[in-house]
Amino acid sequence: MIPGVRLVMLGRQGAGKGTQCVRMSRHFVVPHISTGDMLRAAVREGTELGKSAKTVIEAGSLVGDDIMVALVDERLRMDDARTRGYILDGFPRTVAQAQAHDKLAKARPLDVVIDLVVPRELVLERLTSRRVCRDCGANYTSTGIDRSPWVCDMCGGDVVQRADDTPDAINRRLDLYETQTQPLIDYYGGSGRLESVDGVGDPDVVFGRLTSAIERHR
Ligand code: AMP
Repeated sequence: MIPGVRLVMLGRQGAGKGTQCVRMSRHFVVPHISTGDMLRAAVREGTELGKSAKTVIEAGSLVGDDIMVALVDERLRMDDARTRGYILDGFPRTVAQAQAHDKLAKARPLDVVIDLVVPRELVLERLTSRRVCRDCGANYTSTGIDRSPWVCDMCGGDVVQRADDTPDAINRRLDLYETQTQPLIDYYGGSGRLESVDGVGDPDVVFGRLTSAIERHR
């Protein structure tokens, strides 16, 4: 079997990270750990975490570092992540989260950090027309004349617009990305683990760029 990988995916929301991560997770046979999906599941289930995260997510702000680190720590201790590795999507989002992750992954450090680069204007356009499957997280693009009800081709779940995909929340998230998450490029840049990958283009071509970048580090 193809060897696993320990990978962090950085990039603006709407850069196509989610879809590419799902595909890479199948390719490398490692779990796709999306902190956004984990938080949205907690909101749906009405857990304590979900209740406190709901307003933060809808405002396009960031959930506290301690909460996020504890959530990821618990997930990385599971057998699948410990044996074959993982793709972390949406985490770390701050330097404090990256430092905490480096500490808890000391015994099995990251192989590679990918920065999927897509210009802000383009992601703004994509996020406004983004629709997602409530159940499996598959991404779709609204053309303005959508099926109603819109059912996911992958799993039959409802395809909806995310509550945090309003123009205000989108702009806030993109601003936060620049102030909080871009500094991770410097943080990882010095370690020789960082690969910048052009995220503009046909999804199959972008996927090819991603797998080549990963292969250089395994
Ligand atoms: P995403 O699906 O990655 O776009 O995440 C959706 C929302 O969940 C973000 O806008 C944040 O409010 C929250 N979130 C997800 N991951 C993190 C994280 N690592 N740190 C803080 N907040 C997060």
